[in-house]
Amino acid sequence: MSETVQERLADVEARIAAACERAGRAPSGVSIVAVTKTFGPEVVAEAASAGLSVMGENRVQEAVQKIPLCPGRLEWHMIGHLQRNKVRQILGLVEWVHSVDSERLLQTIDRVAGELGRTMPVLLEINVSGESSKHGLAPDAAGPLVAAACGLRNVEVRGFMTIPPFTPDAGDARPYFRALRRLRDTCSRKYDVELPELSMGMSNDFDVAVEEGATWIRLGSVLFGRRTGKTWTRELGGL
Ligand SMILES: *Cc1c(COP(=O)(O)O)cnc(C)c1O
Repeated sequence: MSETVQERLADVEARIAAACERAGRAPSGVSIVAVTKTFGPEVVAEAASAGLSVMGENRVQEAVQKIPLCPGRLEWHMIGHLQRNKVRQILGLVEWVHSVDSERLLQTIDRVAGELGRTMPVLLEINVSGESSKHGLAPDAAGPLVAAACGLRNVEVRGFMTIPPFTPDAGDARPYFRALRRLRDTCSRKYDVELPELSMGMSNDFDVAVEEGATWIRLGSVLFGRRTGKTWTRELGGL
């Protein structure tokens, strides 16, 4: 079982195409965020040669060490919980943040992006299931935050992200994906803003997420195999 990233990616792309076919969507509307957390720059380089160009990291500390050692033409997305005091560290390294879960974080990103002279596209992370262990905004809080973002100049809310409860049966995630899409439709209409992106679906449930309208799927283990470590660091990476 020593498949290469390229082989695994071919399989994933076939599954995306099949899910799009079932849903009557164009596969070009689905993009992969290759989640490289716990893996080192050599794995990122392999992913890049396989044709993946968007990488996701969930911890600031790991990302700031790793990204500078990776091929330069990649686009990085911050997909994990972000503390306000780490915004400055990460904003110069990533193109997107998928995990905005408070108005204060949104304001901090706006301020720091302004200082860097850029506009930051972000997604609001929604805790659709209401599990207390999860980060993310209550669905009710999404609309007000979309409205608040309209008054900010350096940050653009471009859609929503969610992580459904884990279950072995991917079909169980469908109601959560559908709820996120409906919430997006409602907020988009109510505030008259475009919210084109839905970041939903991971290794175990991305087929279902694509059927329900995902535009970004965040894939780790299905591309890179099981994660053994908790984080990658320069020291552990032996560099
Ligand atoms: C780790 C992670 C993923 C990828 O998980 P897999 O199940 O390995 O595909 C996706 N999204 C977030 C936010 C993650 O932290």
